[in-house]
Amino acid sequence: MAIRLYNSLTRRLDELRPLTPGKVTMYHCGPTVYSSPHIGNFRSFLFADVLRRFVEDQGFAVTQVMNVTDVGHLTLDDIEGGEDKMEAASRKTGKTAWEIARQFEDEFHNCQRQLLVRMPHHMPRATDFIAQMGSIIDDLLQKGIAYQVNGNVYFAIAAFPGYGKLSGKVIDELEEGARVAVNEEKRDARDFALWKVDHKHQMQWDAPFRGGARGFPGWHIECSAMSMHYLGRQIDIHTGGEDNMFPHHECEIAQTEAHTGQQFVQIWMHARHLLVNGTKMSKSLGNFYTVQQVLDLGWSGLELRYALIRVQYRQSLNFTMDGLGEARASIARVQGARARLARIAAGKEPAGADDLAAAAARAEAAFTAAMQEDLNVSEALAAVFALVGDSNRAQPTAAAASAALRSFARFEDVLGCFGAEPKAEAAGDVPAALQELLSQRQAAKKAKDFAAADRLRDQIAAAGWKIVDTAQGPRLERA
Ligand SMILES: [Zn+2]
Repeated sequence: MAIRLYNSLTRRLDELRPLTPGKVTMYHCGPTVYSSPHIGNFRSFLFADVLRRFVEDQGFAVTQVMNVTDVGHLTLDDIEGGEDKMEAASRKTGKTAWEIARQFEDEFHNCQRQLLVRMPHHMPRATDFIAQMGSIIDDLLQKGIAYQVNGNVYFAIAAFPGYGKLSGKVIDELEEGARVAVNEEKRDARDFALWKVDHKHQMQWDAPFRGGARGFPGWHIECSAMSMHYLGRQIDIHTGGEDNMFPHHECEIAQTEAHTGQQFVQIWMHARHLLVNGTKMSKSLGNFYTVQQVLDLGWSGLELRYALIRVQYRQSLNFTMDGLGEARASIARVQGARARLARIAAGKEPAGADDLAAAAARAEAAFTAAMQEDLNVSEALAAVFALVGDSNRAQPTAAAASAALRSFARFEDVLGCFGAEPKAEAAGDVPAALQELLSQRQAAKKAKDFAAADRLRDQIAAAGWKIVDTAQGPRLERA
């Protein structure tokens, strides 16, 4: 059986048939580095990680590229308006746009490590690819597909009949939306910028194409340039969050295919956005979490990873603190079963006569089938837990225990959410954020604000800890 993936372009499950047999090229739209990465971003990045791991598991050699957008992503990019996100953050913090970009790029890489992401082979920065963007823009200008007005360069939608084929956005809809922002320079309201001139912009370059003015690139052209540089004119898989489909991916297709004359991407994949406590995450609703905030509450990167990948990427996933608690319990069940099998395999616990190898083979077959069908992680996890149940009920031979352990090792290799070893925790290992909540609770009790004290206790409990009163005062223990 082959791997079948839902292709947003063809709107059906397509078999993965790489352009070069045995080798798969993947490009993922990466972070825009102007703020701390949030858990919604990482649902999409972890989906990309699991995709890569499974494709490798199936015997393909993968080359994976994820870009870092450190210039050109505007706050209102869907209507070509607003301010560069890096500049906006600079204005708020007093740091330069360059400082902002490097600070949040570092933070992003740190989150990748915490969430146990297998690092992409290349993670290029847009600002290092200005020359490559320039040669595409130059070609589009020469072909008359792009045009220049007052130094700004626009892509002429009218010159690319395929525009809209990915997102299915019809012309009327686009024109409707475009009325919001009237830009007199554009021939057509739907045309999008490849290069912009703005004398106040902190990040500027001499035009990397003939006859241009000093300025900075648009967001969309960055991905075309970096993808082509590392992976060639055609790639097998391109992923992003569902919000990237329009206009970003639609524009990537237009400019790349107008430049090369070839189909850019075989399979386009889009992860659904994350819900938190039942609604779309937003700062105003108070359900917005950065990755670091979740870790500061005492959850591990492994637990957060589990909670973010446990549902298939196209299904709606509702993230809650209860879900993190379930992730913790599920990881513990897998680790408990593995630890016992390891003791039996090593002769530290009596072996029996049960042949667990057949159950392990069954679980692996079910796991593979689920993942081959559009990365159905929920079903794949069901196969893992079927083997946990079978293992716990059996008294296996040492050889069968080893066989089951090999299956668990493969599940870990693909999903990366069970941990390499059972977690050993030091008693005094209380996260600083929880220690802070405990102090706040003491202060609330002292002030006789019992409602606040109860709320703080509940927050501590939701993080999986309990308050134990001792003669020296209260302290925290794992619940
Ligand atoms: Zn992109």
